[in-house]
Amino acid sequence: MKNVIIFTSQTCPSCKIAKNFLFQNKIQFEQKDISVDAKARAELNRRSISGVPTFLIGTEYVTGFNPSKILKLIDHRVVECKKCSTKMRVPTNKGILKIKCTHCVHEFNVDTQI
Ligand SMILES: [Zn+2]
Repeated sequence: MKNVIIFTSQTCPSCKIAKNFLFQNKIQFEQKDISVDAKARAELNRRSISGVPTFLIGTEYVTGFNPSKILKLIDHRVVECKKCSTKMRVPTNKGILKIKCTHCVHEFNVDTQI
């Protein structure tokens, strides 16, 4: 499954909206704040990207908050075991999947269509 990184800055209001969107869609992501993270800033500069939020989904960069494009590129969502609350990544668009909790081995079905 692809890793998701969101590049943000502290003064950017659409970054907050973009992060809420990721939470709401149960997408696991890593955040890099370019206002404090010089390495992340250099990473974007190298690719001539100047705007935030920028998403790195697998190997693809998406600049600006484009929900439909982002959902299309992201191939997982996060589900929570109802017994022990362990969070797991599952693939999307695979219909109903039977998931076995990696922690307590509780089995449950997840609808993975978006
Ligand atoms: Zn569990």
